[in-house]
Amino acid sequence: MAESYKKIQPTKKYDHIIIGSGISGIGLAALLARAGQSSLVLERHYTPGGFTHVFKRRGYEWDVGVHYIGQVHQEKSFVRRIFNYVTDGNLQWAELPDNYDRIIFGTKTYNFFKGREHFKAALKEQFNSPEDQKSIDRYVDLIRKASRTSRGMFATRVVPKLIGQFFGGFISRESKEYYSKTTKTVLESFITNPELIGVLTAQFGDYGMPPGQSSFIMHAMLVNHYFDGGSYPVGGSAQFFNTIEPVIQSAGGDVFVNAEVSEILIEKRKAIGVKMADGKMFYAENIISSAGVHITYNQLLKKHKINSGYLKKIHDLKPSIAHLCLYIGFNETPEALKLPKTNLWIYPDNYDHDENIRNYLKDPENENFPVVYVSFPAAKDPDFQNRYPGKSTIEIITLSEYGLFKKWESEEWKKRGQDYEQIKERYAQRLLQKLFEYLPQLKGKVDYYELSTPLSTKHFVNYDQGEIYGLEHSPARFKSNAIHVKAPFKNLYLTGQDIVSCGIAGALISAVLTGTVITGKNMIKEIAK
Ligand SMILES: Cc1cc2nc3c(=O)[nH]c(=O)nc-3n(C[C@H](O)[C@H](O)[C@H](O)COP(=O)(O)OP(=O)(O)OC[C@H]3O[C@@H](n4cnc5c(N)ncnc54)[C@H](O)[C@@H]3O)c2cc1C
Repeated sequence: MAESYKKIQPTKKYDHIIIGSGISGIGLAALLARAGQSSLVLERHYTPGGFTHVFKRRGYEWDVGVHYIGQVHQEKSFVRRIFNYVTDGNLQWAELPDNYDRIIFGTKTYNFFKGREHFKAALKEQFNSPEDQKSIDRYVDLIRKASRTSRGMFATRVVPKLIGQFFGGFISRESKEYYSKTTKTVLESFITNPELIGVLTAQFGDYGMPPGQSSFIMHAMLVNHYFDGGSYPVGGSAQFFNTIEPVIQSAGGDVFVNAEVSEILIEKRKAIGVKMADGKMFYAENIISSAGVHITYNQLLKKHKINSGYLKKIHDLKPSIAHLCLYIGFNETPEALKLPKTNLWIYPDNYDHDENIRNYLKDPENENFPVVYVSFPAAKDPDFQNRYPGKSTIEIITLSEYGLFKKWESEEWKKRGQDYEQIKERYAQRLLQKLFEYLPQLKGKVDYYELSTPLSTKHFVNYDQGEIYGLEHSPARFKSNAIHVKAPFKNLYLTGQDIVSCGIAGALISAVLTGTVITGKNMIKEIAK
């Protein structure tokens, strides 16, 4: 159980202070604990976990940022090994069905199946021209090849900055071909059928950018991550924290919630501690921020002088788009409601995702949602009925812009007024109608629903523009040499989804990189043992 900073305050001496308790913050604290070092993890929210936290309302529980994770059902995969390492093997996984994602454009449905061969065969049944079939083969090979090169690109995030400056291009030369181009540019270079491109890029919501804007390396890493299917943590996403916390504590570490850091303390260009929102200060040998690149530089370091050229590079990095999520509760079991475990990706009857987003953002209240993602956590989690007998939950996500909700940003949570509640209700109803279109048996069965907006993301996880995935995953982000595990102050480090990529696996891998730099021990080798 995390301690509440409101009730009790840290008194021990710790080796490290980690800001933020998302998967990267707690993952790093556990990695350092396995190296015998203690961490004080400080989290501003009243519950730990960052985007892995769950919230409970009216007898239901929902995840806010976890729906499926790839590669963890393969015992030998690196991602599974990291999870085993930071949880001491205590996190269990429930595999999704072989058909993990279902893609719907208007009346047409396509299924993504576990396993490259199965994935290709299912698509080839629907795209049966010799040209499309050749493209599918080439696509699957390219995804694997491109995602393998990402290691070189991420090495530039950890090598000493001077080396990175002079040899970064050489170190990441294989991946440059992929990270510096958009997904659309790469795919259109060998696929002529726009419908096929629309289907192959239908998981773009997993990294929040359409093909015309996203970096191809992000697309490749994401698709490769799920090529062998997906899994869900048994017991829901709160289990990440529940299984990692004992490992943190085993080396004398602690996690405090309600513990907002307002500033990183710097003395003679060296990080020495943190100042809390209540003015108290805590000190440690190393300070690590897992709160995101923008929060770290724009909020926590704003009082300290940083090279203006470097700061400009940080400001040039754009935040990802924001989202809306509808959390729904039902008073019946997933079996009674015939809920699938397969995720649904529902699109307008137009395979051009860039155009769909452009149209929607021009008139979000009236235009079609550019993507509606539906997840069925109660059906995926074999433990759900033990915790919530006779109940079910669904989560529906679509994209949104912070600007649409900006006028209520200074209002208090839950007290943003009637017009805010009305706009939320309009979106909620539209998302419910979408759900009933595809699962008509749910009409009249909804017991409770609640919509989160970009203001909820800002309120609970601190992302300034309510961004869904931290920094946007554009070619510019991956080209930037400003993103680095080491901040421009001694003993100050960064970790989290902005370092490698969004996603639970991406954030956790960033923790391995940061842990390696801090301890000087090759944690990748240690975990792979
Ligand atoms: C709707 C949604 C669905 C998703 N679905 C999936 C999925 O199915 N599979 C998947 O792999 N990934 C998914 N993701 C992505 C994944 O959840 C994130 O990429 C990952 O959890 C990010 O982890 P992190 O540790 O980098 O950051 P975060 O989880 O954002 O943690 C950062 C923490 O820092 C804290 N913090 C910020 N400022 C301060 C401060 N001043 N003082 C103290 N604490 C502070 C925040 O409160 C937060 O807890 C999803 C994300 C979203 C939003």
